[in-house]
Amino acid sequence: MIIINILHIGIDDTDSPDGMCTTFLASQIINKLEDNGIELLDYPRLIRLNPFARFKTRGNGGVSFKIKNDEKASLAKQIVLEEVEKLSMFDCDNTNPGVIFYEGEITEEMVDYAFRAIYEFITIEEAEKFAKSVGCEIHKFKKGRGIIGSIAAISLPLEDYTFELLTYRAPENYGTKRQIDYDSVYEMDRQTFPDTFENIDYGEKYIAIEPKTPCPVLYGIRSNTVEALKTAKDIVKVSEPIVDYCIYKTNQHTDMHIQKTPDIASMKQYGCYEVTGEVKNKPTIIDGGHMFFYIQDESGEIECGAYEPTKGFRQTVSNLRPGDVIRVFGGIGEQNTFNIEKFQVLKLNDVEYKNPVCECGKRMTSAGKNKGFKCKKCGRKIESNEKVPIVIERNLKNHQFYETPVSARRHLSKPLCRM
Ligand code: ATP
Repeated sequence: MIIINILHIGIDDTDSPDGMCTTFLASQIINKLEDNGIELLDYPRLIRLNPFARFKTRGNGGVSFKIKNDEKASLAKQIVLEEVEKLSMFDCDNTNPGVIFYEGEITEEMVDYAFRAIYEFITIEEAEKFAKSVGCEIHKFKKGRGIIGSIAAISLPLEDYTFELLTYRAPENYGTKRQIDYDSVYEMDRQTFPDTFENIDYGEKYIAIEPKTPCPVLYGIRSNTVEALKTAKDIVKVSEPIVDYCIYKTNQHTDMHIQKTPDIASMKQYGCYEVTGEVKNKPTIIDGGHMFFYIQDESGEIECGAYEPTKGFRQTVSNLRPGDVIRVFGGIGEQNTFNIEKFQVLKLNDVEYKNPVCECGKRMTSAGKNKGFKCKKCGRKIESNEKVPIVIERNLKNHQFYETPVSARRHLSKPLCRM
């Protein structure tokens, strides 16, 4: 067996809300590497990390790719560092690029680190200490916060993965309205879903492939296969130049951020979990349109939230009633509320206890505390205080999953079409 010596390259934190995108910067680097006869081994990777990370610009993504660690490796490193220096949005306080070079096989402790970067918070100092301990070459620009994500982007194993095709705009068009033919996006979705997904939010008539920021991306299509992405790209029509495109292998839509937890009490703030509980109270909506209810188990209870941006999902949530047992996927945010990404009904409470029906057909009313029931129509009385169980119709189904709409979905959330 021939063992190839590999150079892993990780890049993060090069963009700002005003522009750039680490994927675009990486695609520029990849072009330069190819111009110099340096080919990537496998697709470049776009790795989404802790969705609650404080300093993220948008979706907390880092990029990595690997090449042969041969006589051209030092030229490759030089190209990477020059491009990061040239293209990063250094004027933004929050842009603190970090580049990591790592030679060899990814070790188990690096894998553990990568999962920690998805589940927890890591400081720059911790990341630097770790990177040194495993022999990474570290390049920090300004504060160099990007090294946190760069190490994880290199190290995360991808057992489940998806692909994203990103097309890039001509610089003179940055910040202007994107010239995408929406009808062709609908056509692309018709022809390629569910191999591609997250293209359109039909409820909100929202074209999800189109970013809403002034970044270099024209559109991004997500898919299970590269073939479907190529078909999709041929269908989507645009009336502005596409100067480049790049296909990333990614942990998007894999639920990799979701941790299993034994019970509600074991969940921590800023963690994302799958947990089972019984609905405690009827969901209620507050000013601002956010909907809340509690779930409970033997260890405790937690407030669950379906926020206003989840739109029609709140209607689904409002159908829950006390006693329903559900498996909820989501994350505990700033307000210590468990933000629901999706839920599965494990057991519906479809029994309601009502006053008995009188022989004359009228439902009886209470005759007073512990005094049984009486009929207002025919005057009949019964001594028993026992209400009778009635099976009620529910708008939810046992075992079924319900998810937030595309427009409100996290990059890491696995959509039902992939489950
Ligand atoms: P985009 O998606 O547009 O590329 P972004 O949302 O990924 O932008 P970045 O500019 O990359 O945002 O900033 C995220 C920062 O958070 C990076 O510096 C990254 O190293 C850091 N980071 C990533 N994961 C963690 C974590 N678990 N703990 C602390 N910091 C993290």
